[in-house]
Amino acid sequence: MGLFHCPMGCAYYEDEPCIDCGLCLATTQEEMVLASQRIRDYLRVHAENRKGPSRKIAVCGKGGTGKTTAVALMAAAFRELGFSVLVIDLDESNPGLRRMLGFGQAPKPLLTVMGKGPKGEKPKEAWFTREEMGIRDIPGEFLQGGDSLRFLMAGKIEDPFQGCACSLADLARDLVQKLVLRDKEIILIDTEAGVESFGRGVERHVDTVVIMVEPSAESIALAEKISYLADGIGVKKVRAIPNKIPSEKIGQRVAEELEKRKIRVLGTLWVDDQVSEASLEGKGPSPHSNAQRCMKEIVQRLLGESL
Ligand code: SF4
Repeated sequence: MGLFHCPMGCAYYEDEPCIDCGLCLATTQEEMVLASQRIRDYLRVHAENRKGPSRKIAVCGKGGTGKTTAVALMAAAFRELGFSVLVIDLDESNPGLRRMLGFGQAPKPLLTVMGKGPKGEKPKEAWFTREEMGIRDIPGEFLQGGDSLRFLMAGKIEDPFQGCACSLADLARDLVQKLVLRDKEIILIDTEAGVESFGRGVERHVDTVVIMVEPSAESIALAEKISYLADGIGVKKVRAIPNKIPSEKIGQRVAEELEKRKIRVLGTLWVDDQVSEASLEGKGPSPHSNAQRCMKEIVQRLLGESL
């Protein structure tokens, strides 16, 4: 199968259903378009059970839009509101999220559940082969933190010729699917920048995609693309947070552009020296920063609209 990445995950997990979409056998553009349509139709039909409160949230966006900072702010806001948060770091290159959350030590990467066999070998660790599990069933070595905030890392590309990041995405997608959340538990996923994670179907089992948008045409265009891809993958709720906004006027303009593209804006994060200073020091924003206050309102809005 070479570098082909089955959107259903069939290459890695025998229990994932092959839906006979034909994508892996497609040789022409026409066949690929038809196969993609079959996948979209299948996911739409099977996405109905993802209505309801936002519990599994993927934060996406163009590189540099502040996804990682937003995840740190969101995690703090959810905690303040009494939630227990599992943060999944799915950005295979950026090591900053762990530090922003205040963890010195990295947990064992999820990638290590895979055996060192030929490509396509099933995960070796027994806990990962369960069909369903709670956050508390994840072995402690894969987590940093305690009850109100846990951090899990899919893995990082550290060495030359280590291979592509598809298996990280497959594992994370599978884990998110298996996790059954208790009341007041939330999963936040920091995805890789851009749209590659959608090509890998990472967001397939999330119920909400939050797009970080900076004031630029490229970022707005990518937000539109992400919204389209999220819809195609069956995600019912797509929201945007304009970030690094320097003035009310620019904020209004970005919001209008997003509304034109039918992307609902949850709230705005403004240019904030405190956030930049903390970033330079490799720390998360202060709990007393404006950004944190704004994010708390954004999270309350997100919770309020889904209940
Ligand atoms: S037919 Fe579709 S679902 Fe089945 S293995 Fe090929 S790409 Fe995956």
